[in-house]
Amino acid sequence: MATALELKVPADVEKVVDVLLDAKHDAYVVGGSVRDALRGVDPHDWDVTTDAKPEQIEKLFKRALYNNRFGTVVVQSGDHVVEVTTYRTEAGYADHRRPDAVAFTASLEEDLERRDFTMNAMAWRPPRGAKPGELIDPHHGRKDLEGRVLRAVGDPDERFGEDALRMLRAIRFATLLDLHIEPRTAEAIRRNAALTADLSGERIQQEITKMLSAPRPSVAFQMMSELGVLAVICPELEDSKGTPQEKAAAFNVFDHLLATLDATPQDDLPLRLAGLFHDIGKPETFADGHFHQHEFVGEAKARAILRRWKFDKDTIAEVTHLIRHHMFWYQMEWTGSAVRRFIRKVGLENIPALFALRRADNIGSGARSPRMYALDALWQRVQEEIAAATAFSLRDLQIDGNDIKRELGLEPGPEVGRILNELFERVTDNPALNERDKLLALAREIHRAR
Ligand code: ATP
Ligand code: MG
Repeated sequence: MATALELKVPADVEKVVDVLLDAKHDAYVVGGSVRDALRGVDPHDWDVTTDAKPEQIEKLFKRALYNNRFGTVVVQSGDHVVEVTTYRTEAGYADHRRPDAVAFTASLEEDLERRDFTMNAMAWRPPRGAKPGELIDPHHGRKDLEGRVLRAVGDPDERFGEDALRMLRAIRFATLLDLHIEPRTAEAIRRNAALTADLSGERIQQEITKMLSAPRPSVAFQMMSELGVLAVICPELEDSKGTPQEKAAAFNVFDHLLATLDATPQDDLPLRLAGLFHDIGKPETFADGHFHQHEFVGEAKARAILRRWKFDKDTIAEVTHLIRHHMFWYQMEWTGSAVRRFIRKVGLENIPALFALRRADNIGSGARSPRMYALDALWQRVQEEIAAATAFSLRDLQIDGNDIKRELGLEPGPEVGRILNELFERVTDNPALNERDKLLALAREIHRAR
């Protein structure tokens, strides 16, 4: 069953295997690490599997940390972190999400059997003395990987029944590694899709985040929809298929969201999420045919979805802010004051992302040039205002609340805030007023006129 094979694995990682072998244990590099090494890419993490028990592993390495919950010993070897795990089978999945018990086994074959996909169920032992490197591949993962096929190990219905996350992993791997999900495996996802309802938000979030890092993440969302997973984990998106994007109904909101998503920058997660959800309020506001206020409905829906998936507060705040403001418009006649009010409203720090979202939105609508032209024109005007360094928030005023209190002999209280806000309004209309002396004089005037 073993085939001689050379693989490029860092010496630090081979060293961990060697230490275990020297101590008369069995040990292999395993799982995603072998898959990625075969593909010629550097894995995110290196995994080693062994018949040694956690306590034995721990004793063999100076820099080792035993994580009791996962039964994994994390070993620091040179620059590399290697996760060393005892061969195991997973016994009993009552809730489709985590094994009720982890049982150690003495058999590598059993350990490989509990892994999700053939390409993730290979083990490799580095060369040792005269012995060449050896690949253990009982499920023919190498052939599948070469043929670009994603296939469940064993009976796919059973595997997805044990852990529903595997269905999301299948779609994520197929998208990122450009694989074809083999028909029996795909059918089983369709049959078991409802089980993804039991998955924790955190686990869904991790998979969605990885899907969104693909060059064309629409592939994953299309696949989730076709296989019936999307209707379970994100009915809001699935439902958007039933709403036409514009009066001409050839293109629905779902198609538009995915086209926009693909047009956002690959390395910007909040922008990708904003692209994916920016029009998610449209199905609900379709009644009048104008999607009236869909950006506010969409903001609330996106917040609910992102909270369900346990995204962090900052990401949720950024994404929902972009969605709320994505409908901004511009006319050439705008005065400088109107441009400054626009910057104030959306926040200077959000301008680049908001424009990037609109560019993606335009591309996702089949970019017509006049819209693009208006966007570029507004971008120019915004840059001019930024270069003129006027005040876009209260913080940018040349005086603050303390100056006002001191100058007017005021106690802390609402009057100070009222004056500051009024000054900010005046400076937005006329940036030349943003000088200390002028502001203090104005403050006196505003206070007196009260
Ligand atoms: P990546 O690290 O690129 O996300 P990976 O395949 O390495 O992908 P890990 O979560 O690091 O994924 O898991 C390492 C290995 O553990 C997998 O390759 C697979 O063999 C096994 N594995 C992980 N999650 C599951 C699961 N839910 N069901 C079965 N086996 C799994
Ligand atoms: Mg991994």
